[in-house]
Amino acid sequence: MKRDAFETSPPDVSPSHAEAIVRAVFGIDGDATPLDGERDRNFRIAASDATFALKIGNHEDSVPAVEAQALALEHACKVDDGLPAPRVRRTLAGEPVGVVEIEGLPHAVQLVTFVDGTLATDGTDTPASRRAVGVAVARLDRALAGFEHPALRRSLVWDVTHLPELRPLLDHVSPDRRRLLDRRLTRFENDIAPALRRLPTQPIHGDASPANILLAPDDPEHVAAIIDFGDLVHAARVLDPAIAAAYQAFGLDDPGEGMADVVAAYHAVFPLDRIEIELIADLAAARLVQSLLVSAWRAELHPDNARYILSDSESSFMTLALLDERDPAELTAGLLRACGMASPQRRPLAASLELRRGRLGPALSLTYDEPVRLGSADGVWLTDVDGTVLLDAYNNVPQVGHCHPRVTAALSAQARRLTTNTRYLVDEVSEYADRLGRLLPGELSVVMFVNSGSEANDLAYQIARVATGNSGVVITDHAYHGTTAATAAMSPEELGHERIEPWVASIGGAATLGAADAAERVAGELHEAFATLDARGHRPAMLICDAVFSSDGIFAVPKSYLQAAYAATRAAGALCVADEVQAGFGRVGEAFWGFALDGVVPDIVTLGKPMGNGHPMGAVVTTPAIAQAFAEGWHFFSTLAGSPVAAAVGSAVLDVLAGERLPARADEVGAYLRARLHELAAAYPVIADVRGPGLFIGVELRDEAGGAAGEIARRVTNGMRRRGVLVGRTGPALNVLKIRPPLVFAEHHADRLVAALDQTLCAESRPRREMIAP
Ligand code: PMP
Repeated sequence: MKRDAFETSPPDVSPSHAEAIVRAVFGIDGDATPLDGERDRNFRIAASDATFALKIGNHEDSVPAVEAQALALEHACKVDDGLPAPRVRRTLAGEPVGVVEIEGLPHAVQLVTFVDGTLATDGTDTPASRRAVGVAVARLDRALAGFEHPALRRSLVWDVTHLPELRPLLDHVSPDRRRLLDRRLTRFENDIAPALRRLPTQPIHGDASPANILLAPDDPEHVAAIIDFGDLVHAARVLDPAIAAAYQAFGLDDPGEGMADVVAAYHAVFPLDRIEIELIADLAAARLVQSLLVSAWRAELHPDNARYILSDSESSFMTLALLDERDPAELTAGLLRACGMASPQRRPLAASLELRRGRLGPALSLTYDEPVRLGSADGVWLTDVDGTVLLDAYNNVPQVGHCHPRVTAALSAQARRLTTNTRYLVDEVSEYADRLGRLLPGELSVVMFVNSGSEANDLAYQIARVATGNSGVVITDHAYHGTTAATAAMSPEELGHERIEPWVASIGGAATLGAADAAERVAGELHEAFATLDARGHRPAMLICDAVFSSDGIFAVPKSYLQAAYAATRAAGALCVADEVQAGFGRVGEAFWGFALDGVVPDIVTLGKPMGNGHPMGAVVTTPAIAQAFAEGWHFFSTLAGSPVAAAVGSAVLDVLAGERLPARADEVGAYLRARLHELAAAYPVIADVRGPGLFIGVELRDEAGGAAGEIARRVTNGMRRRGVLVGRTGPALNVLKIRPPLVFAEHHADRLVAALDQTLCAESRPRREMIAP
């Protein structure tokens, strides 16, 4: 390993000599003032219109190495034009560096723009300043990632990768420190160096210490520039955040906390792999060992300069000792947690249930007799904490598939950029609203954002009341519209009819929806409902229907049913509200909205669940006239709703729905699955009906006497769960299996579902034929 540049002093150049060099090589006239430099001679050059930093390299530093540094910096500034780093000024000959002869030896000279700032050594030491360092280093590494130059593949004393070669320097370390350094060296040699060799490499800065970081003069928590590219080397990129973290931990009682600030900020800009994060604590310690070894040796070499050389030594040793006291696993767990990669704590099942019940409250039930304890998900697959994979045929929130990368990428990118409320002007939010409006028919174009389906229906009711001056609501018999006080009152599924408010009346329900003459009946049912409301002192403000009639037992909207219902509702002076919380966004197929299956145009549409693929989002969409009527009496604002993050997520969901043709797929796969379920129905008398639009399918079960088989449905959903397929149940008697998978569900998934249902029905009911499945 070449150590010579350390052993030689910087070139002897006076300010006037420096001025002559700048003039000759760069064509710039300026006044030179000396700057600090350990092995190079540096000057500040004040020209008439700009200020530069001149660096005259140590003659032991090869010209190609210095040239590679300048080219790398140029490259990085091109990739990231706002990079906090100086800009390279080329020579008169157009070269990245010049070469001058000093005392008969060639020296590389480099000119960069001078960045005003305070050295981080004297700066504020706060979590924000540490994060700023992490961000700046990450931006630099991200911008350097694609750069390649043979001179950077060099062997350098300051490259942590080569730490084992510094072992002989232990002799220069005072005996009281030697033991710790020796032990850390051994750990590095045995455990860390082999792991480091497997990590991704690229050009790295190699020395993001406070002496190389300039903080903005007016904001000491902001990095103005990373400077000094003299240690640039091709090495494991994780070394950069590790080195920055080591120095930023100086002086802290808990170095782990300081390191976490740097690493998390780095990770947010230029994500690290888990295996990289797992090495950071050791690599930071290795950097401190390296620094202590080199400075002990150099202090002996230059006794006159020993104070300067050893200036960091005390802090390095203190921090190393503190890091060394800590349990390495615990240190790493802290870094992983800071990067959002903590491994969840695994409790025994009983303890997990108890904690949930105690902390989330007893009003929340759990699905399935054998609770599903989830760890992760992808597409239509859920993986439980034991690694068992389950086919998700139930969850309609992850409409485009669990954890769709385009949605999660949009979410995290926007969350890193900006999130705020709708009282500021952010075009992306209005553009998303515009996109939604274009997906809806007629005048439906004004979008009011909320955070859930319940809030959307609640707001729809407020709007309908203001717009009509009335207060009555008509629902279907076993409806569910939400969990706020007003929407719970419209949800007999949840509250039971006895607790429904006097301003709510219901129509139809399963008996009508399943009948051939549903469309003929509905106007009469509505008139009765209006009369009931009238008698209780409420004129009708709105009719609200979920067009897949999920809680009523899942029905494809009967032909002309909504047309007749909307006509009667409007004739009574009330508004027609389509609750698309379940039916919307392609679930019913290419019609895209449930109400569209019957060719109607609602006055208000409410959205939720699939809108954000799991990110809490909801919306009310209405006409400009109704929105205006509402605005005259009311203000509306919901702090978290319609955030830029929500808009980014919602747009990504729309992109995926269109790009992957998911609504069409809902039609195709839905038809296939219904056909396969009809085959099962032929074999199992327990199946009374298979129905529903698109990928919202109900399988109604009956008992041997023809009655509703709620208990069998319960056993079947539990049996399916044990066989690795999740479905739910619904309907007034909870006897309808509810199948509404993410829309990325494919025919082979449908086959798997049918096979599991076949086996389950075989076990839980009596098949028409002997045995369908083993
Ligand atoms: N409307 C319908 C038709 C629903 O199914 C639901 C939820 N199941 C809601 C509204 C309420 O949505 P959220 O739970 O997101 O508030």
